[in-house]
Amino acid sequence: MVITVYNTLTRQKEEFIPREAGKVSIYVCGVTPYNYAHIGNARPPVVWDCIRRFLEAQGYEVTFVQNFTDVDDKIILRAQELGKEPLALAQEYAEIYLEDLATLGVLPATHYPKVSEHITEIIEMVEGLVEKGHAYVLDGDVYFAVDSFPEYGKLSGRRPEEMMSGARVEVDDRKRTPMDFALWKAAKPGEPAWDSPWGKGRPGWHIECSTMSLKYLESGFDFHGGGVDLIFPHHEIEIAQAEAYNGCAPFVRYWLHSAFITMSGDKMSKSLGNVVTIREACERFTPKVVRFWLLGTHYRNPLSFGEEELKAAARGLERLETAKENWRYLLSTTDQEAGAEAVPEQLSELIRDCKTRFTAAMADDFNTAMALGVLYELVREVNKWALAESFKLTGANRPALEEALSVLQDCGELLGIWFTAEQATTSLSEEEIKELVEKRQNARANRDFKTADAIRDTLKAKGIILEDTPQGARWKRL
Ligand SMILES: [Zn+2]
Repeated sequence: MVITVYNTLTRQKEEFIPREAGKVSIYVCGVTPYNYAHIGNARPPVVWDCIRRFLEAQGYEVTFVQNFTDVDDKIILRAQELGKEPLALAQEYAEIYLEDLATLGVLPATHYPKVSEHITEIIEMVEGLVEKGHAYVLDGDVYFAVDSFPEYGKLSGRRPEEMMSGARVEVDDRKRTPMDFALWKAAKPGEPAWDSPWGKGRPGWHIECSTMSLKYLESGFDFHGGGVDLIFPHHEIEIAQAEAYNGCAPFVRYWLHSAFITMSGDKMSKSLGNVVTIREACERFTPKVVRFWLLGTHYRNPLSFGEEELKAAARGLERLETAKENWRYLLSTTDQEAGAEAVPEQLSELIRDCKTRFTAAMADDFNTAMALGVLYELVREVNKWALAESFKLTGANRPALEEALSVLQDCGELLGIWFTAEQATTSLSEEEIKELVEKRQNARANRDFKTADAIRDTLKAKGIILEDTPQGARWKRL
């Protein structure tokens, strides 16, 4: 099976050839956990979850890494507002994000590295860049010298003058060129800081992803993913850091970027204030519908969030679920009649080719929308036949219906769209619930009502309702 992918680096579709036969290595940029993640943060993990399931079904052994940026200005700022410790705040929201992903049926990654746990490796890499003349030290800060890496701009295709405009470059007259970016920042009072050869400080904005991807996947790994907003400067910088450090290219073989989620035509972002969290979306539309909606559009096309779009997704999913249930019911309850009603030739061909066509759609740059189209067609045509009043299940046509059911079941499994009733509402064990309830009680006792409310929301999203009584909190499943 030839798999083709659109590589941002070469700006064309290419055949995917893994670095190592039978193995695929994937790194996807994760979130900065300082608040509830918005629905835009769900797109890359859900898309990559399907890619991963598909590759595994093709026989590849997949190593999947997604990081947490747990040292960041936004976390520090929010922690100060809440009077919390920044790393504890990041930990809390990282856990909430992982719960969100589990709710959406995303399989756990192989590794979830955090910046705070990789400071030694980051310092080592920054030191290496200084030694190799790619970075310079300025009063406890370390900057990457963009001039030392002539290929800077190759991923985004931007010329130097374009890179300056619109980029979030820190203005600092001490820098050799304005485009130079911080690898290490000297400590400021009240911020998390670690000892380094340049004094106390913390990593800059981008170095973590180069360091952690190289640690877990090594240079020349297969896929690097993330949203299109990360192409410049984040991924451009990741390439510069990693390739300058290793003295060899490529750092990554294929760069895949998913498009934005929009709301009334605008990009959804915290800074624009038009944000829907994953939790809110799941509560309003159920996790399985949210996942199905995310897969209904090819990852490279923008996706619109709205009542209409989600309702359409709900109808689409229901069509597939109902077909699956109807066919299963037919096969299990109908007394097989004697007779030799054959399956119409065209339909029998359609059922036979369905899996191949589905696989071809997924192999074509992981086109989940096209793959779903194949399933809709299967359902439409099989329903016309098997749900017709004149239909009789016979020994001759039974295998065709069985095959249709098994193809629908398997392909849906690959997309992760079959949620059990339990998964759809809760994925918490009784012990986990008790633990969260206790954590909330403690938070309330400490008059930390924000944390208490956050835990109550977490439980609610999982279908657990709390009731505060004089004897303490009681809970029940919805
Ligand atoms: Zn990253």
